[in-house]
Amino acid sequence: MEYHPGGEDELMKAAGSDGTDLFDQVHRWVNYESMLKECMVGRMALKPFTAPLKGKHHILKETLMCCFARQLLDCDFLLTIEKHKDVIPKTNMASSLTSSVSYGTLTKNKSLDNSSKEVVPSYDWFQTDGLITVVIYTKQKDMNSELVIADLQDGKLRGEIIVKDYSYLFHVELSYAVHEDIIVQVSEKVGKVEFVLKKKETVSWKTLGQLLENHNSFVKCKDRGLYYRKCKLLSKANVTHDTRLFCLMLPPGTHLQIPVGHHVYLRQTVTGAEIVKPYTPVSSSLVSTFKNPSFSDKMHVFFMIKIYSSGLLTPVLDTLQIGEYISLSNPDGNFTVSQVEEVEELFLLAGGTGFTPMVKLLNYALTSSNILRVAKLMFFNKTEDDILWRSQLEQLAHNDARFHIQFVLSEPKEGWTGKKGKISSSFLSEFVKRSKVDSKILICICGPLAFMEQGIQ
Ligand SMILES: Cc1cc2nc3c(=O)[nH]c(=O)nc-3n(C[C@H](O)[C@H](O)[C@H](O)COP(=O)(O)OP(=O)(O)OC[C@H]3O[C@@H](n4cnc5c(N)ncnc54)[C@H](O)[C@@H]3O)c2cc1C
Repeated sequence: MEYHPGGEDELMKAAGSDGTDLFDQVHRWVNYESMLKECMVGRMALKPFTAPLKGKHHILKETLMCCFARQLLDCDFLLTIEKHKDVIPKTNMASSLTSSVSYGTLTKNKSLDNSSKEVVPSYDWFQTDGLITVVIYTKQKDMNSELVIADLQDGKLRGEIIVKDYSYLFHVELSYAVHEDIIVQVSEKVGKVEFVLKKKETVSWKTLGQLLENHNSFVKCKDRGLYYRKCKLLSKANVTHDTRLFCLMLPPGTHLQIPVGHHVYLRQTVTGAEIVKPYTPVSSSLVSTFKNPSFSDKMHVFFMIKIYSSGLLTPVLDTLQIGEYISLSNPDGNFTVSQVEEVEELFLLAGGTGFTPMVKLLNYALTSSNILRVAKLMFFNKTEDDILWRSQLEQLAHNDARFHIQFVLSEPKEGWTGKKGKISSSFLSEFVKRSKVDSKILICICGPLAFMEQGIQ
């Protein structure tokens, strides 16, 4: 009872009778089966009876442990969310919304066309003695956890959800302290996203907290600035003479999964100037990742980075000490794995560190596709010493008959018996050959600009 924002009066409207209609008016989108399971004391008697008023109070006090609350924002702002003002008690949250936030968001949301209006997410929150759960209803059927990014830090919860080309932002400074980790649950079929936070103290929260910049906004992804969080350097290992494998650990309050083929930005202040460069995460290895990732795997992000002695950022990365921090952004990129799902033959062309997007792509294709028959990588480098993860690639080719690797060197040392030269039409026409005339194929290329231009030509 004490957790319910409508309080006793609202609950008493349904006491002793069927409360389905009243519940549906306010909370029809809520998955009440699972939430109220804990509160079930028994089925209501079919035979009508009149209970004394005192008795009704008693039942409600003992059985309702959860509360369903909905943030009510000012009228204008309601244009972006479902209208339920008539049935929802006003909380004091609206007063904490700064005008710049509401106007900024409103302008952008007003410009949405009708089709995008239909998918504007809405949210709700409820609590138990120990937990706070924020529920976001994206109304998108194929929601998945890669589309959800959450950061719980310094008492602030920032949740970003990608809905098609749009980004929905939940951004609140919480009323009370919570533990630093967060649980993110995604119901893929119904498009429901839950952020579960653990209360530090068993107090009843009257409000979720103070609304922060761009809270409840729904804007085109390209209009949303990249968000950065500080990640700790866990390890650094040599891959070749000039390339290192860095392992960064996400903060405990961060939920972030970087999709295959997407990159992030690393940001560091170097002699007073902020330097930002893109990098594509890799898996920790090519041969030992053929299993479901553990929790700690999800918290680790690996990068294979070539150090340029006269470069702006990479020499700084090279001197970063274990335990030091660097800022890592939300993911960016257009690649979707659905492009790989129907492919029977996959051809990958990589030049130098252009190999990095191929790592997760290969892992994905070889582990997730039932129809892939061939995956070939042609890997261009200057010398043998520059080849990244050579032994792992050879091992993978040995372990999986579908995978074939060809190394091409532009400046080989004497004794190299493999292919020599730079990317050219003669190499490619030989390499990109279907094993069956009607095979569905996908060709991916990544490397320095000149390499890409030449390859595409
Ligand atoms: C989408 C994307 C993903 C990427 N992923 C990776 C990855 O996973 N791993 C990776 O190692 N790299 C990756 N890169 C490259 C990376 O972003 C950086 O460009 C690279 O690390 C160099 O950064 P830097 O600041 O150290 O060097 P920079 O300062 O950019 O210099 C790089 C080199 O170019 C030379 N140089 C710079 N300016 C000039 C100039 N005007 N004329 C001539 N030479 C010049 C420098 O001397 C140095 O040798 C990616 C790039 C993109 C676009």
